[in-house]
Amino acid sequence: MKHLSPLPAPPADAAHLILNWFETHKRDLPFRKPGRTTRADPYHVWISEIMAQQTQIDTLVPYYNRFVEKFPTLDALAEASEQDVLKAWEGLGYYARARNLRKAAIEVKALGDFPETPEALAKLPGIGPYTAGAVASLAFNEKATAVDGNVMRVVTRLVDSDVDTALPAARNAISNWLLTWMPENRPGDFNEALMELGALVCTPKSPACLICPWRSCCLARARGTVAQRPVKSKKLKHRQEKIAAALVYDPDGRLLILKRPDKGLLAGLWGLPALTYKNKQTGLSQLTALLDDKLSLSVPEPVFVKKDRHVFTHITWQIALYRCALNEAAVPKDPNWLFATPDALKSQYPLPTAFSKLLP
Ligand code: SF4
Repeated sequence: MKHLSPLPAPPADAAHLILNWFETHKRDLPFRKPGRTTRADPYHVWISEIMAQQTQIDTLVPYYNRFVEKFPTLDALAEASEQDVLKAWEGLGYYARARNLRKAAIEVKALGDFPETPEALAKLPGIGPYTAGAVASLAFNEKATAVDGNVMRVVTRLVDSDVDTALPAARNAISNWLLTWMPENRPGDFNEALMELGALVCTPKSPACLICPWRSCCLARARGTVAQRPVKSKKLKHRQEKIAAALVYDPDGRLLILKRPDKGLLAGLWGLPALTYKNKQTGLSQLTALLDDKLSLSVPEPVFVKKDRHVFTHITWQIALYRCALNEAAVPKDPNWLFATPDALKSQYPLPTAFSKLLP
């Protein structure tokens, strides 16, 4: 797994600066709480956050208003027919989200009240870690984070972190790091402020650094690296490979294995004779030619045993396994190839799972 470098400590007054900015610059949105002392309504936060997953906040307001006018309370949503909910969702797309909203409303109604912790919220249909954190912090003042792409962009710029935000572990790392400086008494405001800064000021293409509350402490701005943050590596495409592999036994029952090349997949590990191929006929003939080439004798044609597959991070091997029993002892011509007894296989030459699972 790729290593994640830890995020540096945030500037001392970063939380204070962004909360002050939020107080005066936040947009007046129908699902937002009216003042500092009141809390947002969990039902309203939830509906707006689910809608925000596919639509910009400004665009979703009319949809939101129409939806809560039709279903003003959680009970109203729980009691509505699926057809009515889908109708009210019209124009927003991703209808599975509307179905899940209704299902979750039914579950919350049965529970008697909205769950307050992110863990409990995340058990409801359609609620992922981001929405769970947003509802828990905005409506219940729970110390929870709501980390999405916007928040990752804003904070990696603040501390000029080169953490790769495409890695699944990055979200967790940023979430844990945010918890270390999230103000104890205002987690909801803090999360909303980060979201608002990402939406209004620290935008992806042309951030308005001159009016940003962090302009004097933002490290990416100071170092001129704003355009390079966040780092987001391109996802490698997952590809399929056809592999022909062979179990070759000598007359003493020893298995033919080899040390794989120092570079590439399973580099330097022990493996079975194997190669990639395009179609079934060439696979078998290529495998036979490989064995002939590496051993001191001409091998009998390998017999097909079974198909199997092994999934690596970026490659799936579709394996055709063959078996070949030699009638006489053979000596590998390649020093990286050898015949191993079953005991030696266990103690000296352990095979990686991709191969060991093929053994009888
Ligand atoms: S100063 Fe610029 S880059 Fe830094 S957080 Fe603010 S808007 Fe983003």
